[in-house]
Amino acid sequence: MTIAKRIDGKAKAEQLSESIAKQTAILKEQHGIQPGLAVVIIGEDPASQIYVRNKKRRAESCGFFSVQHTLEATITQSNVLQLIDDLNNDDAIHGILVQLPLPDHLDEQTVTQAILPSKDVDGFHLINIGKLTAGHTADAFVPCTPAGCMLMIEDELGSDLSGKNAVVIGRSNIVGKPMASLLMQRNATVTIAHSRTRDLPDVVGRADIVVAAVGRPNMITGDWVKPGAVVIDVGINRVETTVDGETKSKLTGDVDYDAVCKVAGAVTPVPGGVGPMTITMLMFNTLRSARLSAGLAD
Ligand code: NDP
Repeated sequence: MTIAKRIDGKAKAEQLSESIAKQTAILKEQHGIQPGLAVVIIGEDPASQIYVRNKKRRAESCGFFSVQHTLEATITQSNVLQLIDDLNNDDAIHGILVQLPLPDHLDEQTVTQAILPSKDVDGFHLINIGKLTAGHTADAFVPCTPAGCMLMIEDELGSDLSGKNAVVIGRSNIVGKPMASLLMQRNATVTIAHSRTRDLPDVVGRADIVVAAVGRPNMITGDWVKPGAVVIDVGINRVETTVDGETKSKLTGDVDYDAVCKVAGAVTPVPGGVGPMTITMLMFNTLRSARLSAGLAD
């Protein structure tokens, strides 16, 4: 029995971060520009606190100027928009990220659309979404998670996916839809599946590339997957397990990793796959924004 290759997202992310740090040092030395990333967190969501801390750490390790704005959960929308306006006008800031989800009284669309497209390193602004969809990516920011997934797929299959069938499970604006656009741009034949898709195992079984972005633990089982397929697991699910009578929580993906490994060609683990790549692509986008602001090419 063959066992699929474990795609090591953590190692790839570290490698990429080193390269970003080197390019940052060159940008500083040759052009006097230090990429600046501002992260805005509103409220006390514990998972968001961890994500933001990790992003700040990674930004600093890349040599960026990094600021964090921690706002009370009760802040008004106009105060949030004022802060975004200030950051939009701050020349030391090249990337602005507002950590989601937001408290209920704030409108996610209004807040994310207030960020200048040229500083929208999350790639959530409609201008960036439109450019990606239309294939005008020269100055667009691609959302970090699909961008990271695409790099891992390219490592396995090359950048021309002509003749390959890809299935993206999940149609969210931040993962599923941009992922499908990226795969199509690389000539894959793409199916987007979602909660209304019929015969999902059959749809997945025809795919050479599977990207799972659902949020349901271990949903994709070994018998769904085509032998040799490349399987990218975006899902992050916290599940409870009992070890020696003690209940612990652990992270698991949407893919039943052990079962799928017996069939697939390559699989990303959770944790250690897509997650670290997502943070690194945020740094990639911020460096890119700093370079673009100085009129430098990619
Ligand atoms: P959303 O909840 O926005 O989207 C989930 C998608 O899954 C929807 O399109 C939904 O379909 C679809 N879906 C739900 N149930 C089924 C089902 N039974 N069969 C087929 N499709 C189904 O999630 P996100 O895209 O934001 O995130 C998806 C997962 O990825 C989550 O676990 C999230 O935590 C994780 N994530 C991980 C990141 C990382 O860095 N690793 C970054 C971002 C997200 P419908 O549209 O019909 O409702």
